[in-house]
Amino acid sequence: MLHHDFRRFIDALDDLNPAQIEDAQTKIQDLRRQTEAISEIEARTNQERKCPFCCDERRQKWGRTRTKVQRYRCSGCQKTYSGRTGSVIGRIHRPDLFMVVLRNMLGPHAPQSVRKLARQLKLNKYTVWRWRMLVFSIIGHGTVTGFSGIIEADETYQRESRKGSREWVRHFADPKKVAPPPRPRWEDFTTQGLKMMRGLSRWQLPILTVADRGGARLFRRLPNRRGVTLEHAMKPLVPRDAMLCSDVANGYKNLAAAGGLEHYVVGSKPGTRVASDCYHIQNVNSLHARYKMFIKPFCGPATKNLNGYIRWLEIRLAGVRPAEVVRRS
Ligand SMILES: [Zn+2]
Repeated sequence: MLHHDFRRFIDALDDLNPAQIEDAQTKIQDLRRQTEAISEIEARTNQERKCPFCCDERRQKWGRTRTKVQRYRCSGCQKTYSGRTGSVIGRIHRPDLFMVVLRNMLGPHAPQSVRKLARQLKLNKYTVWRWRMLVFSIIGHGTVTGFSGIIEADETYQRESRKGSREWVRHFADPKKVAPPPRPRWEDFTTQGLKMMRGLSRWQLPILTVADRGGARLFRRLPNRRGVTLEHAMKPLVPRDAMLCSDVANGYKNLAAAGGLEHYVVGSKPGTRVASDCYHIQNVNSLHARYKMFIKPFCGPATKNLNGYIRWLEIRLAGVRPAEVVRRS
């Protein structure tokens, strides 16, 4: 909008009656939500102020892009850029709809399925899926939280999943050349009545959960179920003066012995879960319950994406706002 048209528009606001003011306010709020992504992106260039190509800080305003983001021209290398240049979400054609998906992922309600969201936004379901994976890549690197005081730790398990892989299709297409995958499909245990045999536990992937009473918490996938792995994962998390509450697993015992930690062992059976009033693992147990509730609708996410889902839950619990995710991209 041209400058003088805009002034006229602003002046015309004086003539609105109270009902019209309400209407206008609702409209403006909607617009603000729609352009939230763009405002965040612009905020980024205003902080950094550097050309992404040559790092020169001298620049001129140079119109707006198709998605109405401020464009600049670098006075050094003459190239044009905007806050979207070089950002992970830079190539998204509908940043407004991306924000809807992001808000759905981080909002107070349980996230909707990719299919439902796609239908609602009139998008292809693969687009919504790609955006979700994009968010995973942005939030992928969690910051390590410092734990102190009474620290609870325990593991929960997630079935290994090769969802989306073509390995069985390839095997059936050419059974002589292509060996079957190392484990039956989980569904075959129910549909074909296969017995849960020994050794299956190695397909249950451990997720370590740690929490202290100050509210610091962490979920982390461990590569295997060995005690040494657990011990190594725990070691940098637990300071020497902390008190550790856990079950009897060797990883915790060895960690406590090696570091001279005070260690309270809690049983896994009902009635033995609390060592004494304040030495228990109720906080990590409740985090496990939230994990199970969160992961259930995804019907066993593919293992290659599991870290993304874990981080997603972490930032949901931490109350990270959509705008922060855009800023990190
Ligand atoms: Zn430049």
